[in-house]
Amino acid sequence: MLDITKIRADFPILNRTVNGKPLVYFDNAATSQTPQVVIDAIVDYYSNYNANIHRGVHTLSQEATDKYEEARMKLQRHFNAEKSFEIIFTSGTTESINIVANGFTSLLASGDEIIVSALEHHSNIVPWQMLCERTGALLKVIPMNEEGVLEMEAYDKMLSEKTKIVFVNHISNALGTINPIKEIIDKAHAVGAAVLIDGAQACPHIQPDFQELDVDFYVASAHKIYGPTGVGILYGKEKWLKKLPPYQGGGEMIKEVTFEKTTYAGLPHKFEAGTPNICGGIAFGAAIDYAQSIGFEAIEKREKELLEYGTQELLKIEGLKIYGTSEHKTSVISFNIEGIHPYDIGTIVDKLGIAVRTGHHCAQPIMDYYKIPGTVRASFAFYNTLEEIDALVYAVKKAKLMLL
Ligand SMILES: *Cc1c(COP(=O)(O)O)cnc(C)c1O
Repeated sequence: MLDITKIRADFPILNRTVNGKPLVYFDNAATSQTPQVVIDAIVDYYSNYNANIHRGVHTLSQEATDKYEEARMKLQRHFNAEKSFEIIFTSGTTESINIVANGFTSLLASGDEIIVSALEHHSNIVPWQMLCERTGALLKVIPMNEEGVLEMEAYDKMLSEKTKIVFVNHISNALGTINPIKEIIDKAHAVGAAVLIDGAQACPHIQPDFQELDVDFYVASAHKIYGPTGVGILYGKEKWLKKLPPYQGGGEMIKEVTFEKTTYAGLPHKFEAGTPNICGGIAFGAAIDYAQSIGFEAIEKREKELLEYGTQELLKIEGLKIYGTSEHKTSVISFNIEGIHPYDIGTIVDKLGIAVRTGHHCAQPIMDYYKIPGTVRASFAFYNTLEEIDALVYAVKKAKLMLL
């Protein structure tokens, strides 16, 4: 059992009030909160060894380089990547996806097919549409059903030797659905297609094993895993990272530069042009250490409890409908109350100190499917409590009374 009082004390922000009420933070799917140990790692970097990496012979530069590379190895171990250079530091999930989508420009021909799912975040849709415009490739979409679950039979029919890459999220940020990614990966591989998994929403809740999944690319953002914004990873199998061209040119990513010809650095530097978010990478490592100290089994168990209690209590409110009812889902509850705009509910519960997200959650195709403008989304982390859920239920009931 987790000691919730102790865990909550790790997150200084959870002590603050909003509009005179204790903060209830239920917007974890947009960004998670940061524990003191991660804040300390950031302060330590700027207080003690702030320097540019990889280039300096001086002590500070070497210390910064060591810590940054140590963080890369922490991520390698956490995700069980075979090699540390298969972990590329990026500015986040969005950039990671763009690196791969951009890289596939030279690997696709007109008439090739690429497959996305209906459950995606815009950042796993738009870069691929741009790829289609550049190459003449065709974008196919795995449909979803009313529960927010992908139609796997349709996926089976879509796959062929024309399929070059499949990209789906591990967990939907809008509905919380956990997708059957192992099955998606194995079936894509059977026709020779590569697979990119958008793990932005999964990594706070579960610990994926890249080698066991046999995934070709996996991407995530530190700020959803208790780390800072502006840093993330692109994992790629060595063979794929060698095949893809660099994304940006600049310092750090070169071997030799002349005006006649430039040769590129090896992995991971080929994809890390310019001065990276050094402090962010180190803090990402600290965030992973923190999550490991809690343990992903304990995190999963706790969040399941929050999801079950939240679902049960919210459904007691008449007229409330939950979108995303898969048996396999994480601690995200997307809902609406008949006759009320989600934005109005969000505004009223904020007055009571409760942070939820309202809108389309960067997943407009899902909202179009349900023919709604958006939802209210409450997303829980292991540091949330049942009492906070009670406060949400109270606030939503109050909003309903005021608005109907
Ligand atoms: C948050 C999120 C993204 C985008 O992540 P950024 O950190 O904003 O780049 C992409 N996909 C999913 C599923 C997400 O939840």
